[in-house]
Amino acid sequence: MKVKSEELRQEIFRKLAEKCPKPQSCAFCGHREWLVVDIITEIREFYEKALSPEAKRMPVIPIMCNYCGYMVFINAIRLGVNLELLSEEEVKK
Ligand SMILES: [Zn+2]
Repeated sequence: MKVKSEELRQEIFRKLAEKCPKPQSCAFCGHREWLVVDIITEIREFYEKALSPEAKRMPVIPIMCNYCGYMVFINAIRLGVNLELLSEEEVKK
């Protein structure tokens, strides 16, 4: 889900700055320039049947090394982002 709400985007940056004030170097290439990808995606529990309704889901914010593309995922709930800021229109999709 693409983050279109400016309020949500600002909250993501504010929470990241609060909880991760000293970003680390990329584990692959050593560069320090990170890009917060403006989508919220999810990690889903694996079941043999694809898209099982029983599968637990975890909303995550991808953060990518701007040099090599290495990515890390931050749990949006643990970060403290208010996911209710996603617009109704986006939630229906
Ligand atoms: Zn890198």
